[in-house]
Amino acid sequence: MSLTGTPAPDPCPVCGGAAGQLIYLQARDPITRAVFQVAECSACGLAYTTPRPRVADPFYPQSYRAYGPLVTRALRMFYNRRVSRWVRGRSQPGSVLEIGCGPGLMLQAFHRRGWSALGIERNEAVAQTARRSPGLEIVTAPVEDLPAGRRFDLIIMFQVLEHIGEPVPLLRECARRLAPGGRLITCVPNFSSWQSQFAGPGWLHLDVPRHLIHFTPRTLAATLERSGLALAGLRFASPEHDPYGWVESTLNRLTGRANTLTRFLMGLDPFGPAVILSFVLGAALALPATLLAGASWLAGSGALMEAIAIRSKAAGE
Ligand SMILES: [Zn+2]
Repeated sequence: MSLTGTPAPDPCPVCGGAAGQLIYLQARDPITRAVFQVAECSACGLAYTTPRPRVADPFYPQSYRAYGPLVTRALRMFYNRRVSRWVRGRSQPGSVLEIGCGPGLMLQAFHRRGWSALGIERNEAVAQTARRSPGLEIVTAPVEDLPAGRRFDLIIMFQVLEHIGEPVPLLRECARRLAPGGRLITCVPNFSSWQSQFAGPGWLHLDVPRHLIHFTPRTLAATLERSGLALAGLRFASPEHDPYGWVESTLNRLTGRANTLTRFLMGLDPFGPAVILSFVLGAALALPATLLAGASWLAGSGALMEAIAIRSKAAGE
C-alpha cells in the first residue's frame, strides 16, 4: 500500500517493469460500477488497467456483444467494406483466422469471397451461434492448440488485443502462424486519441476492466516488435465506433452518468427519462461528433486504430 491508501499498481504486462505510475485513480467499470485504476509503465510507457481482475467472467454480462438485428445489419455493412479493403490486390482467396470472432460476422464476409475462414471464440454459446453460418470453422480452443503446421494469410484481432492480459505470448504465436507474406490486422482503441484526452476516465472506449491494456500508436508498435512483428501500416477510420464514442463520452460529461445509451442498448438498463434525454442530446451531437471523428482521423488521433503487422526480419520466415 502506498501512503495514499491506493495499492501499488500491478507490474507492466508487456515489459514487466514494476514502477508504474497511476494516471487515473478512479476509472469506473460502466457495467458493474466497480472502480479500477489506470497505470502507466515508467519503463516502456504502456498504460494498463490495475489491479487486473483474477477472474474476468463477472465483468462480461450475458448480453456482451449480443447484438440486435438492426445493429447486426449495420455491422455487417461496415465489416463487409473493411474486408473488401483487406483482400484488395490479392489475385486468389486465401486463409483467414479471426481470434475472438464473436458471432462470425467478419468471417462471413471472408467466406463470401471464397476464403477459408477459421474463428476462435472462447464463449461456447457465442461459438454455437457462429457455427450456424455455413462454411465457417469455429473452435473454442486457444490458438496454440491449432495443428502445428496450420498457417494463415491473414490473422484478424478486431477489438480483442486490449482484452488480453499478456499480449506478447499471443502475438508471438500469431507471428508463428502467419504464412509467408501473411499479415496480422489488429484494431484497438487509441489511448492517446483526442477522444480519450477529452473524456479522461469517462471515455467510452476505456472500458475497464474488460480493456486491460490501453495502447497508443507508440506502445502498440513496441508491443508488436517485442513479439517478432513489425508495424507495416496504421490507420484511423472507424465509422461504426468513433463518432459514437464522441457522443457517449460527451453525454457522460454532460449528464454525469456512465454510458447511458450503451447500457440501454446492451439491455442493462430499462427505457426511461435518462435514456430519452440521452437519445435527444445524442441526436444533436451526431453531426459534430462525425466531423470531429473525421478531423481526428486526418490528424492521426482517431479513437480506434487499425494496425497491419508483418513478421519482422529478425523473426525470420
Ligand atoms: Zn512496461
